[in-house]
Amino acid sequence: MAVATQVTQPVTSTYSIFDQISEMDHEQVVFCHDKASGLKCIIAIHNTVLGPSLGGTRFWNYSSDDEALKDALRLSRGMTYKAAITGLYLGGGKAVIIGDSRKDKSESLFRRYGKFVNSLSGKYITAEDVGTSKEDMEWIARETKYVTGLPEYMGGGGDPSPFTALGVYMGMKAAAKQVYGNDSLSGKKVMVQGVGHVGAHLVNYLEQEDAKILITDLYDDRIAAVSKKHNVIVVNADALYDHDFDIYAPCALGATINDDTIDLLRCSIIAGAANNQLADEKVHGQLLVEKGILYAPDFVINAGGLINVAMELQSYNSERVTVETEKIYHRTLEIFAHAKQKNIPTYKAANEIAEERLRSIAILNSRR
Ligand code: NAD
Repeated sequence: MAVATQVTQPVTSTYSIFDQISEMDHEQVVFCHDKASGLKCIIAIHNTVLGPSLGGTRFWNYSSDDEALKDALRLSRGMTYKAAITGLYLGGGKAVIIGDSRKDKSESLFRRYGKFVNSLSGKYITAEDVGTSKEDMEWIARETKYVTGLPEYMGGGGDPSPFTALGVYMGMKAAAKQVYGNDSLSGKKVMVQGVGHVGAHLVNYLEQEDAKILITDLYDDRIAAVSKKHNVIVVNADALYDHDFDIYAPCALGATINDDTIDLLRCSIIAGAANNQLADEKVHGQLLVEKGILYAPDFVINAGGLINVAMELQSYNSERVTVETEKIYHRTLEIFAHAKQKNIPTYKAANEIAEERLRSIAILNSRR
């Protein structure tokens, strides 16, 4: 039987990897490999000032190891900011497993992964993300207690996506209030890009408000499942930018607001679930201001799922999760007000508020 190996210092391109790690100021990055199960994964721990790092495990067919590393670094940094602005006692971490989630999943792979998570002794706590489910968390839980997003029968909160969708819906309504003067989404054309776990629940909220809903996805089965239940217009994934809409809700992968797409976007609000929607926040955050598009910062409005899994670390209570997630409405409005007052883009306003909390607790920690 092959022995699982953990390489904390990768042997190739050491310089460029450390460059990347230091650029975003990560604490620790762990490369894990297990030949027998085919596991190849990267666990990135960005910051543990506020508490242990928590973030989901993404299972994705990256085109290169470098792309996987970049994703892990960007996602884990985002989790630090998300936990900070949401007022949670958690740091930021994230893991990526390299592979095709529709073909490469197995009990042995997830249990081997669980052993690696366990070896970090709680510095990183995992959960679901794109390509992983609560059933996968169950396998991980056979090997470590540092896992959340567990099924209800195991004392967990189940799939966090409904709460993520609730938070996105709250953030979208706050953005509507800011732009249109009231928070009703009735009659608004909303483009939901990606109708997976979160996108499908978001469609549900939008339908209840009588929004005009456009959807797109790469998978026909996802489109079919949502179209069967809801009154939606289906748009080809490649033709998204040919359409006009009031609100763009990116609920697929990150970096969809980039040099190629930003000039094609014709909407007044961006509010979605995807992490790291701005390919380059400094560049694209400012360009959105110039284009008159209000951006509801992703890590602020997609925190419902994190609130849900964080609650599992205490005593799980779905009513409390709902109350805490609904607070995203006012938090988003506060960020818009801060941005307006300082005449800065909304992403920057959110970053400043999160960084202030991190700074103040880091000072406190240094005095201990
Ligand atoms: P998911 O895998 O269930 O759904 C994503 C969907 O997007 C899939 O159906 C996929 O086919 C589709 N997709 C991918 N690329 C696309 C493209 N170019 N065009 C159209 N569709 C595309 O994932 P999810 O759990 O719904 O998460 C969606 C996003 O929200 C991710 O970025 C995730 O990191 C983020 N997020 C999720 C949660 C959560 O609770 N699940 C929490 C916070 C953030």
